[in-house]
Amino acid sequence: MEKVTLGRTGITVNRNGFGALPIQRVTGEDATTILRKAYDQGIRFFDSARWYSDSEEKLGNALSDVRKDIYIATKTGSTTVEGFWKDLETSLHNLQTDYIDIYQFHNPSFCPKPGDGTGLYEAMLEAKTQGKIHFIGLTNHRLPVAIEACESGLYDTIQFPFSYLADQKDIDLVNKCKENNIGFICMKALSGGLINRSDAAYAYLAQFDNVLPIWGIQKESELDEFISYQTKAPKLTKEIQELIEHDRKELAGDFCRGCGYCMPCPKGIQINQCARMSLMLRRAPAASWLNEHWQAEMKKIEECLNCGKCMQHCPYHLNTPELLKKNYEDYKTFLK
Ligand code: SF4
Ligand code: SF4
Repeated sequence: MEKVTLGRTGITVNRNGFGALPIQRVTGEDATTILRKAYDQGIRFFDSARWYSDSEEKLGNALSDVRKDIYIATKTGSTTVEGFWKDLETSLHNLQTDYIDIYQFHNPSFCPKPGDGTGLYEAMLEAKTQGKIHFIGLTNHRLPVAIEACESGLYDTIQFPFSYLADQKDIDLVNKCKENNIGFICMKALSGGLINRSDAAYAYLAQFDNVLPIWGIQKESELDEFISYQTKAPKLTKEIQELIEHDRKELAGDFCRGCGYCMPCPKGIQINQCARMSLMLRRAPAASWLNEHWQAEMKKIEECLNCGKCMQHCPYHLNTPELLKKNYEDYKTFLK
């Protein structure tokens, strides 16, 4: 089993981390089955967030009896000190624990620092003094914020999207984290579903000895795939390298990563799926995207107000309304 150490935290775990966002979408019973199997098969790092509805609760229910054997990272998206403490207490309660290993600011629009007037970083320090958290982390989709956090020396871990579709600037961030002994927690390693070969994703990331992917797992079959890599780690074979090159060409340029930071839309458009429908139709089984449900969702694009609210929040600076319209036109050709 390949292991990764998260920089100065010293946390050393199986290269398979568990991203607990998707377990929101399964029943409590199924979540327990999946989480327990992950634990039994040697997965020791679990990442959740206050924003992931009942994900923390499901983690607590499934793994509280083995708490001391696992590492839990969770997140607060609060922008106030009062909200920070409320979130922390809720997370501790839901997770059935009295400490969080890594407590992270969840995608803040800036890099919280002591003396910035928000009091947020000071709250982190106080929580650490009280023993309620062990390490301080930050997650982000904005490269400048992640770089600032990395250079500030204030953070033990950075969580950032990273996959074989990443560009050189993202790779530079990974290397900078390594130089500064900061743990790199990798989200979106399958680029929100656009990468459909997990072995290629695994093999690419395994080149970086400081990167811990947290795979978003919803089904036991997905879990089994990652577990199989623990005994037979995928390598960067010629075939996988060619696939990566092919995907990089196909997915070059501006594409929607499905992060959802542009939502909600006043017209209820499911932007994070609809703005990348053309890609999903070509990279995943098309039939499921052409059913009545998705036809109705795509039709909502006709009602777009062009208000630009989505664009203002897109960390990738996409022209979201235009992208939606392009995807809709393409979608209609599939329906014919
Ligand atoms: S521009 Fe269109 S898609 Fe974007 S938020 Fe406004 S209505 Fe929704
Ligand atoms: S349009 Fe931008 S913010 Fe919205 S889901 Fe896609 S990448 Fe994320």
